[in-house]
Amino acid sequence: MKKIAIVGGGPGGLTLARLLQVKGVSSVKVYERDADKNARVQGATLDLHEESGLAALREAGLMEAFIANYRPGADKIRIVDKEANIIVDEHAGEKEENRPEIDRGPLRKILLESLSADTVVWDSQFAGMEKSGDGWMLRFKNGTTAYADIVVGADGANSKIRSYLTPIQPFFVGMTALEGSVYEAEKLVPEMFELVKGGKLFIFGDSKTLIVSAKGDGTLSFYAGFKSSADWVLKGDVLDWYKSEFNEWAPIYETLFANVSGGFIPRPQYCMPLDQNWEALPNLTMLGDAAHLMPPYAGEGVNMAMLDALELSRCLTEEHDTHAAIAKYEKEMRARASATAAMTLEQTERLHSPEAIRKMLGVIGMEYSGMA
Ligand SMILES: Cc1cc2nc3c(=O)[nH]c(=O)nc-3n(C[C@H](O)[C@H](O)[C@H](O)COP(=O)(O)OP(=O)(O)OC[C@H]3O[C@@H](n4cnc5c(N)ncnc54)[C@H](O)[C@@H]3O)c2cc1C
Repeated sequence: MKKIAIVGGGPGGLTLARLLQVKGVSSVKVYERDADKNARVQGATLDLHEESGLAALREAGLMEAFIANYRPGADKIRIVDKEANIIVDEHAGEKEENRPEIDRGPLRKILLESLSADTVVWDSQFAGMEKSGDGWMLRFKNGTTAYADIVVGADGANSKIRSYLTPIQPFFVGMTALEGSVYEAEKLVPEMFELVKGGKLFIFGDSKTLIVSAKGDGTLSFYAGFKSSADWVLKGDVLDWYKSEFNEWAPIYETLFANVSGGFIPRPQYCMPLDQNWEALPNLTMLGDAAHLMPPYAGEGVNMAMLDALELSRCLTEEHDTHAAIAKYEKEMRARASATAAMTLEQTERLHSPEAIRKMLGVIGMEYSGMA
């Protein structure tokens, strides 16, 4: 019967709300900063993993909706070098589909539509909270307040809730990812569109990466990864920058930068310390990026956020004592996240090393014949 406030309606927060409702918790609210469900274009395609993202959707009773919305074939990868030679091509031959892809937009829609009416309170940017009885009085930027017995921070990489639990900050991993999209890509960048072939393209060279994925609406989303300082900013024209930074790369890649729709987002890459720890509180916890931000180079962020939601929903509904439930969830969550972050940091380093292609082929058990 406790009132649960989830701050942040990303994949982690919405999955938790759905799972709690499925498990009989009726008093759940999600406070989301976006003005409404259409406020933002949702990013690229996500591969969901059996033991995490898909396990959460299964327990949430949403596999049918997932199957109706996922993108068969979008999981096929091509590893390409900077001269546009295809080194690995999963489009050639059969590929077992074990990590199905879904676009962020449809995933969010499935989760939103699964919730009881008025679960999500839009336009509610969390501004702060004070202790109130055994719970919390939350304040939002729009001037409203709300009481909750338990607060869950699901407010992503720059979480405002996190500081109520721990002062531990993420550390900079030494690189930036510059993110962009090309809408109507078949028309604007036909050669790239053909190369991506509805799946994902991993281009490695000169200790840099360019990762491109096809969305169901005809967009190509991409992010260029490169070593940088934490305060890197794009000075001047993006094309000039690209041409000097990626000067030995094939001209085909430049077309993405020349045709970008809606600008670029620089994302300096941070990771939470692997040994982070804090004292469990009886009425406050967090999940997903708020708890264990890590770079995107192992494709685990959404999966971890959804697995956190699954484990937290189980702990909160199966344990009688909320304090013990939160302590159990957090202990396992930190251990899980730490192992995944270690693997992710290794992968990030490998992909941004001079020998990236050779090393990646080693990881997937293939020999490199030296095309690049
Ligand atoms: C370029 C890029 C590529 C990625 N690729 C992948 C991938 O392929 N696979 C993968 O698994 N992961 C990927 N990730 C990581 C993934 O996006 C995150 O790990 C995941 O979205 C975390 O989910 P979350 O619910 O914890 O947080 P988020 O998705 O960040 O959601 C947080 C929500 O909280 C809201 N919010 C924030 N502040 C407030 C506030 N003060 N008050 C109220 N609401 C607030 C936000 O509007 C948002 O809706 C990628 C990330 C990036 C940047």
